[in-house]
Amino acid sequence: ILQVQNLHKSFGDHEVLKDINLDVHKGEVMSIIGASGSGKSTLLRNINLLEQPTGGDILFHEKSILSDDFDVTLYRAKVGMVFQSFNLFNNLNVLQNVMVGQTTVLKRDAAAAKTHAMELLERVGMAPYVNAKPDQLSGGQQQRVAIARAEAMDPEVLLFDEPTSALDPEMVDEVLNTMSSLAHTGLTMIIVTHEMQFARDVSDVVCFMNDGVLAETGTPEQIFEHPQEQRTQEFLKRYL
Ligand code: ATP
Ligand code: MG
Repeated sequence: ILQVQNLHKSFGDHEVLKDINLDVHKGEVMSIIGASGSGKSTLLRNINLLEQPTGGDILFHEKSILSDDFDVTLYRAKVGMVFQSFNLFNNLNVLQNVMVGQTTVLKRDAAAAKTHAMELLERVGMAPYVNAKPDQLSGGQQQRVAIARAEAMDPEVLLFDEPTSALDPEMVDEVLNTMSSLAHTGLTMIIVTHEMQFARDVSDVVCFMNDGVLAETGTPEQIFEHPQEQRTQEFLKRYL
């Protein structure tokens, strides 16, 4: 469904992504692990076109997302992103946050958008909070609303950039549980995370990034039990 081909990204003369190749299949859950500064967020931001690649290509359903006539707004609905810092609209309440993309980008009428939003808020346990503003919610609650908002666009792929790392420890599980149940719906997901147990449990594929390079890719068992690369072994030793 998504193919990253020989992707390069530099900021000035600092090369942050060095020839990344990835193939994400429909329904697959891929986790990306790696040290701080290794380029994980930059990779997701390129896939979502929040950054422009400096080399290589990214294909979505075999079409280049970098071509001039590509509809980026619609693409961002199909390939949604959930951020570390939630990024909800603070002037809108919970229900409006989950409706707004549906009415503006997907041109759904308000009634249909509301029905869909309520269904998703129900599923993430946030239906009782529809009238609350984001700043009245805990971090874990905000992140669950952010997930419902991304889901409301009927995405084919969801990208998660360390969705739990800004949360107090007691709120991490509620968000990870929400993500696990999403993974079981067959949604295609790419998850940057430092939660190794979670990555091991939910992923089909785990990628280890090191200094701008995809150093090792494999099943959770291959990466966590039998890492081949010394760099992977050393990274995991510090985390497990
Ligand atoms: P972390 O685990 O800390 O989130 P990361 O793996 O997500 O790290 P990135 O945020 O992708 O790492 O950053 C990789 C490198 O790219 C870093 O050296 C960072 O300073 C640099 N970088 C990222 N964004 C920019 C930018 N907009 N301008 C300049 N340099 C950047
Ligand atoms: Mg990051």
